[in-house]
Amino acid sequence: ADKLDYVKSKIGEYADFPKKGIVFRDIFGALTDGKACVYLRDLLVRHIRDKYPDVELIVGLDSRGFLFNLLLATELGVGCAPIRKKGKLAGEVISVEYQLEYGSDVFELQRAAIKPGQKVVIVDDLLATGGSLLAATALVRKVGGVVLESLVVIELVGLGGRKKLDSNVHSLIQY
Ligand code: 5GP
Repeated sequence: ADKLDYVKSKIGEYADFPKKGIVFRDIFGALTDGKACVYLRDLLVRHIRDKYPDVELIVGLDSRGFLFNLLLATELGVGCAPIRKKGKLAGEVISVEYQLEYGSDVFELQRAAIKPGQKVVIVDDLLATGGSLLAATALVRKVGGVVLESLVVIELVGLGGRKKLDSNVHSLIQY
C-alpha cells in the first residue's frame, strides 16, 4: 500500500484539459519520478505474477500502453505486441472501429502477433469509458487470443468503463 500511495501522490491532475469540464489524470507526473517508476513496475509485475502466471503475451494500446508492454514483457519473460491507430502497422492487419466522445477511430493489430489460443494481458495507462479496451479485446479475440485481463494504472470509476468489458479488469488506482 505504501508503494501504491507513493505512485498515486505523483499522478498529475489537470482541470479543463484537453477540454473544459474534463479532469485529466496525468501518468507522466509519476514517470518523471524515479522511485514512482520502480514502484509502478513492481506493482504491475506483482499483480500479473500473482494472478496470471500463465500469461504468454502482453498487448499494449497506442500510445501510453506502450510505456508498459515492453516493460512487463521483459520482467515476465514473455513477448509483447502493439495495438495501433489505423495505418501504422505493416503486413496483414485486422481492424476494429471504436467510439470516441465525438466520432470514431480505428485500432489495428498484426494478425501474426498472436498465435491462436495464446493467453494475453492487455495494458493501458487509463480506463475511462472503456471504448479503447473493448476494441482491443475484440481485436485480440478475432485473431484467436485469449484475454486473461485488461490491466490499467488508473480507472475513472464514474465513467463506468468496467461494465462495458466482459473480460477481467484490474486497476491500481481509482478516481
Ligand atoms: P476510453 O476508451 O476508456 O474512454 O479512454 C481511454 C483512453 O483515453 C486511454 O488510452 C487513455 O490514455 C485516454 N484517456 C482518457 N482520459 C484520460 C485522462 O484523464 N488521462 C490520460 N492520461 N489519458 C486519458
